[in-house]
Amino acid sequence: MNMPDKIVGGCLCEAVRYQFDVGSSTIPPSTCKCTQCRKQSGALNVHFLKVPLSSLSWLRNKETWSRDAPPDLTIFRASPGSPEITRGFCAKCGGLVYWRDGRTDMTSITLGTFDEGMLRGRSSVLADAKARL
Ligand SMILES: [Zn+2]
Ligand SMILES: [Zn+2]
Repeated sequence: MNMPDKIVGGCLCEAVRYQFDVGSSTIPPSTCKCTQCRKQSGALNVHFLKVPLSSLSWLRNKETWSRDAPPDLTIFRASPGSPEITRGFCAKCGGLVYWRDGRTDMTSITLGTFDEGMLRGRSSVLADAKARL
């Protein structure tokens, strides 16, 4: 199987869909166990992959990829003292899609929102990275 050149993913209800270039991301992914990630996701830890904003696009109207985030992507600021830290999640299903520090040009996408096949098997682009988690 050829390595895909893009990773595609999104929330459970598919109102929020994204894609980014595989080569642009920073591997290996990171794991966060902080209280905010735990409380927002409902999981004991959350895995993130840093992606440059310039490589990230969002699906609009179920057919067009755009730099503009879809309407159902909701921004939450968990730290009042750090307004530049935002968390993006789906307003419909609640899926946590990213964590972002607005002082950088990177967005940390949640690995758990990658589509099926992106994380699985020896030939998946992140098999090696996942093995190190
Ligand atoms: Zn959703
Ligand atoms: Zn965290």
